[in-house]
Amino acid sequence: MGSLHAAIKDWIKKRPYLSEIAKLQEVIATVIDENTAPEQQIDDYDWDHIISEVKKGIPVLKVIKLDNKIIKNAADLLTGIVSALATANLPEKTVQFCQKLQAVLSGNTELASRIIEKVTGDNDVQLKNAGISEIDEGFLVFLAWSSLAETLKPLKSKLMELLEGNRWRRGYCPICGQLPAMGQLVTVAQDQGRERELICGCCQMRWQYRRIGCPYCDNQEQEALKIIEVAEEADLRIDTCDKCKSYLKIYTGEGNRQVALADWSSLHLDLIGEKNGYKRTGYQMYKP
Ligand SMILES: [Zn+2]
Ligand SMILES: [Zn+2]
Repeated sequence: MGSLHAAIKDWIKKRPYLSEIAKLQEVIATVIDENTAPEQQIDDYDWDHIISEVKKGIPVLKVIKLDNKIIKNAADLLTGIVSALATANLPEKTVQFCQKLQAVLSGNTELASRIIEKVTGDNDVQLKNAGISEIDEGFLVFLAWSSLAETLKPLKSKLMELLEGNRWRRGYCPICGQLPAMGQLVTVAQDQGRERELICGCCQMRWQYRRIGCPYCDNQEQEALKIIEVAEEADLRIDTCDKCKSYLKIYTGEGNRQVALADWSSLHLDLIGEKNGYKRTGYQMYKP
């Protein structure tokens, strides 16, 4: 954990314009790190059935219903994150929002679980009569996914194992079905060049994708796929597609993944992508 905080500090030193969002991330990372809930067993799921559905292209969360223990763990983590943010040294707007949310959650013990369930189903938090109508939905969805990314770890590892590494090759997440937020070039075997992995912006699952090709529209025509190099960022670049006009941020480095691939840490590349006429198609939690 100490190393994550150090890595964030190091990243921010070179990119001070990200310091506010980094502070928020550090608070969340600390709560997750201090979380002592035991990892949930996932052996009860029918993995033969799950993997046969996944091989047809259906993400895990569309095949199974998460059991109550996983939901409860994620809900408790969400409640913990909200409480920590409610007293953190962060912009007033964020703190006030979390205080309001904290009050609503403590008055309704089932609500955090309902939020988690709703987010894994429809990726929104529109709940009837929950008293959260005036709460910033996007931010709450982001907090719920931050909890789930941690709680779903056993599910993600199991799927990676069953997919023999993490070969999935589709343009959406094999766990939750959302579109990738970023990619990374990774060395898979010596002398075979590098593969491209995609990272889900919601549950943070990683999977292998083709080296060439747009994950958003499946375009594979070389001439419609270009790269924007970013002068001051040697380890980051932007892959673009002229067919669907989308961009995908790519980390070309290998170390420091937790920070480099965190999406918030390269918000400046989103601005560059948009300035060049491309749109963000991958799910985005933050709007710069
Ligand atoms: Zn996902
Ligand atoms: Zn495309």
